[in-house]
Amino acid sequence: MQKHVFLGVTLALMIGSLCVQASAAPVTLVEQGEASASIITAVNPTPSARLAALELQHHLQLITGGVVPILDEEQPVSGVRLLVGDTAATRALGVNPRALEPQLYVIQFHEDTVILAGRDWEDTPENRAELGMGTDYIPLDAWRQEIDYAAATGQTGPANRITLPGIFDDQGTCYAVYDFLERFCGVRWYGPTPLNVVYAQTDTLTITGENIRRAPALKHRHGTGGGWPIVNAQWNRPSGDQLNLYWRRLRVGGEKWAGNHSFRSYQDRFLNWDSELFEARREDYFSHGWTMLQGERQFCYTNPDLIRQKAQDARDYFDGKGLKGYQVAMGDHFAVIPLDNANWCKCDNCQEALEMDKDNHRGEHFGSGTASHYFFGFVNAVAQEVAQTHPDKFIATLAYHVYSYRPTEFELAPNVSVAPCLQIRHQWAPLIMKNDRDFYQPWVDAKDRPIYLWTYPCFPMEPAIIQGWHAFPGFSARNVAREVQRYARDGVRGVFMCGIGEQVDYYVAMKYYDDPTADIEAFLSEFFTRYFGAAAEPMQQFHDRIEAIYSDPENYPAEVRTEEMQHHQNEHIAWTYLGTEERMAELGALMDEAVRRASSDIEKQRVETWRVGVWEYMQQGRANYLASRAE
Ligand SMILES: [Zn+2]
Repeated sequence: MQKHVFLGVTLALMIGSLCVQASAAPVTLVEQGEASASIITAVNPTPSARLAALELQHHLQLITGGVVPILDEEQPVSGVRLLVGDTAATRALGVNPRALEPQLYVIQFHEDTVILAGRDWEDTPENRAELGMGTDYIPLDAWRQEIDYAAATGQTGPANRITLPGIFDDQGTCYAVYDFLERFCGVRWYGPTPLNVVYAQTDTLTITGENIRRAPALKHRHGTGGGWPIVNAQWNRPSGDQLNLYWRRLRVGGEKWAGNHSFRSYQDRFLNWDSELFEARREDYFSHGWTMLQGERQFCYTNPDLIRQKAQDARDYFDGKGLKGYQVAMGDHFAVIPLDNANWCKCDNCQEALEMDKDNHRGEHFGSGTASHYFFGFVNAVAQEVAQTHPDKFIATLAYHVYSYRPTEFELAPNVSVAPCLQIRHQWAPLIMKNDRDFYQPWVDAKDRPIYLWTYPCFPMEPAIIQGWHAFPGFSARNVAREVQRYARDGVRGVFMCGIGEQVDYYVAMKYYDDPTADIEAFLSEFFTRYFGAAAEPMQQFHDRIEAIYSDPENYPAEVRTEEMQHHQNEHIAWTYLGTEERMAELGALMDEAVRRASSDIEKQRVETWRVGVWEYMQQGRANYLASRAE
């Protein structure tokens, strides 16, 4: 057994944007399997501190076998103290977690004491009363799930039911403990189940290091999923509790922002008299000339009464008076985003506003500006109205579809926050990436408002699932890293992920939102080495080869490189152009080699998750395609 533990072989990777302070003498937490430290929390810890203490105890036990007790600050203590969250001792040492900025956390080494703390949400009736409806239409308070922590972490014994901090609640103490476990104890969470957790065992754990004071680089990090075929297998079929715990470990959430179609309940509020949401019949709010499209009927976005209505909805939200139906809003951001179609109102005023943009597009790309001045004119009018009473709040909108381009003919009000909607795994379609970049750049270059992003890691899996075929996997770790680094350089505040991709892509995205300075080659090498051990080399070759085949425009039909329009992978592209017989033979040989080389039980199980989840999925997809062509 190792007597002294490492700072972690590759922890240098993670030391990007740190504010480094003095280091202190080594602290021994466990010695020869016996705890020489205690975890100390407040008598009534915050949900974040409660979870952080359990996570710290659990992982120290995984690493050493020793059980480091969790005590409240009024119990007698001897030995090293791990002060988790806000305690009197933490404050006596000069750290007041409640005074820290949101998401900022500290790891501080003192004589026989380590402080692990950040600002935490407190479970009070006032805090519970806060309203919010996320980009995914999940209410703010629904993220404060109760889970069985013992079952989620694979512990035998009685249930341990705890309430998680909501992903958008302050949880700086969790961030401190998770960073501590990664940076100083070598833990990695490559997925939600115990099989996905990586650490090195030792019976004596001694920590040395420098003080940390930092916050995640991107402030809003929202992407959840896990049910789609490849990732579900790679993650070893996680339970709902395991997924919810995993979002905390990867610091999903953060700053409150939301943006999605926000008129979904207007039909019920202003047309459907038998709806429980019905307020008054306002036929005049709705688009002219489309009466047959119940539920998809747009609105008359030049109607001053509609502008006043949306502004009043925003004020009601900001004043805590309620959120009606599927109105999207979170924190200081109230969403104003039309229904998801371009069946615009045919009244004279609306048509006149649309007329100026009729040629404002490049080819047939999905993202264009043919309704930009029309729609942002409406957003502007709502924002200016709301600014009169709530000047520090934002109208949140998307730069999406036919209103992707930034308007040029008027100044957009400063209290509008915008999220351009961008492909993140279309590097194989350079014209689409260029069109996205061209409308993204003016939004970020202006530096005149908060910018968030909506990205689409859902391709190519989502259409494949909906249409019942198997995709050639969209592995894009290197592209994802490069794009997130660009977002960080451009001052983007956060990202919503529409679908999450697969195990490596998702892990890269979430870690790069936190710290975009890592070198991707070292990052991937660490993943494959630590996760697959003796099978690392063929597994990384298998992954990298899929990524290279998927990413190269030359592997696709010529129109992908020449047509100014939206392209997506389809079954024909997947199994005629990408997963050719020759490439499948090559990939199969790499997987066979990985299976042969995996030596420990855990390596074998991890290789098996990819053999079934990725390789069998691909083989089945190609076989299905060939069979359908033979019919
Ligand atoms: Zn109209």
